Amino acid sequence: MSWLRSLPAFFVRCAESVPSPCCGEVLSVIGSRKRKLISESGEDLLLVIRRLRCSQCRKIHHELPDCVVPYKRYESACIEQVVSSLSSPPAVAADDATLRRWKIWFLNHTTYLLGALRSIAIRFHQDPAEESSVTSQTAHHPFGRYVGDAPGWLARIVRPIANSNLWLHTRSAFLSG
Ligand SMILES: [Zn+2]
Repeated sequence: MSWLRSLPAFFVRCAESVPSPCCGEVLSVIGSRKRKLISESGEDLLLVIRRLRCSQCRKIHHELPDCVVPYKRYESACIEQVVSSLSSPPAVAADDATLRRWKIWFLNHTTYLLGALRSIAIRFHQDPAEESSVTSQTAHHPFGRYVGDAPGWLARIVRPIANSNLWLHTRSAFLSG
């Protein structure tokens, strides 16, 4: 683990206090763990992710920072560039096989992610079908009506889904991304 010492560490802290995804109760911070992430330029980053415990059932959760897609080694901004339907080639330092895998992953998961966003919206009594600022037709991705089209849209999709425990934990589908 010698790389741990040589990398700059970024402490990940969510501003808002999120209720536990299991019981909706208070989460207490009980520690942290490190996770490596690759930036757009191909640089290694080291994240320090907080371990949180539910005050009700004592289940452990890990806070998902908004620059991370679960089980992927690259920043979500990189993946977002690649899966957007923009024609220009993405400026991401990753090999073609990795880029292709992200596109396939995105295509395969679009329906599931849309369903998860919809169920979160309904849970919070907001039906996005009613009020849409950006329509799916004008956005560069199919999630426009939920998260808009501004940069960071993939992070805005991933974070609520993961923090609501709706992220699919099918490791094989995400492995080695
Ligand atoms: Zn709980």
